Formats: sequence, structure tokens, C-alpha cells
Amino acid sequence: MEIVTNKEHVVYQSNKYGRYYTKKNDSVCWRCTIKRCNARLETDNGAVLKEIGQHNHAKKVAIPSAVSLRVACKRMTFPCVLLR
Ligand SMILES: [Zn+2]
Repeated sequence: MEIVTNKEHVVYQSNKYGRYYTKKNDSVCWRCTIKRCNARLETDNGAVLKEIGQHNHAKKVAIPSAVSLRVACKRMTFPCVLLR
């Protein structure tokens, strides 16, 4: 399961989530960033625990920063440290 995350956002299965709240047991709840979408995600230590709810839209959210970074890396032939 691919998961790309930082402190504010997580991208999972082509959907982007914003940080929602942190539970007492340190797992983190995320909310889909699409307006009016109630889908949520719960992660713990970078791993997805569960998906909550369903998306009300097609999965089309790209990862702009990650994509452009990959392109830049190819062009410059630098090893891509940030993305594994
Ligand atoms: Zn959604």
C-alpha cells in the first residue's frame, strides 16, 4: 500500500487527505481534501489502519509535488532521496 505523507497531508490511493486530528493512541485521522467528501483515513506510524467512509468523487487527485520531483530527478539524474 503506497502512502505518501508529511505532517499536514497524506496521499493514499490517489486521494489526498488533510490532517484532521490525532487520537490519544497516536494514530492520526485524515480527511479527504475534496469539498463535501466525507471519506477519512486513519494511519499509525505511516501505515494505513483503515479507511472510513466512501469518496463521493472519482479518484483523480494527483501528487503534484511528487510528480514534479520525479521529473526533475530524471532530468538532472540526481538520486531521488526524498522519494525513497
Ligand atoms: Zn474523497
